[in-house]
Amino acid sequence: MELIGYCKSCNKELYCQNGFFVGVIHDDQTISCTSCSEKAAADAHTQENGGKPRTS
Ligand SMILES: [Zn+2]
Repeated sequence: MELIGYCKSCNKELYCQNGFFVGVIHDDQTISCTSCSEKAAADAHTQENGGKPRTS
């Protein structure tokens, strides 16, 4: 595996596995692991709703 870098959120080592990078590369060239990127997306979605929990 090839070490690509470290997650900007949790500093986890991120590798290229079988030619496939497991993680997310951001526009500012920072990278995040999949779990942190999913959490960031969830946080952004919460902010879109004014921070209120969804009732559904
Ligand atoms: Zn992470």
